[in-house]
Amino acid sequence: MGNNQIDATLFCVNCDEETNHKVDYRGDRIHSVTCTQCGMTVQMDQDYIDDNFTQDFVKRVFTKPSRLTKEMQADLNAFMRILPYRVITKPYRVYREINEHKND
Ligand SMILES: [Zn+2]
Repeated sequence: MGNNQIDATLFCVNCDEETNHKVDYRGDRIHSVTCTQCGMTVQMDQDYIDDNFTQDFVKRVFTKPSRLTKEMQADLNAFMRILPYRVITKPYRVYREINEHKND
């Protein structure tokens, strides 16, 4: 197995604000990040990340921590803000049902 999820407050490019996210780890690396407010799932392209970020950054931001520290959350948040769309391999999975019932 080795899969698990961690809650994190991260910036969502779709909501354009900080929202609660589920960070899904597969093995010891981030597999995807899902915004619980709009349902957008960002799936991490590991090859792109390995090619474009330093080992140090990858280790610091993407490797599963025993617990998500404030520092790691800030690092991941900064990454989400600069996230190039090429990294998003499965970009939008908006739960239309939820949005249809939201009138604001
Ligand atoms: Zn969102």
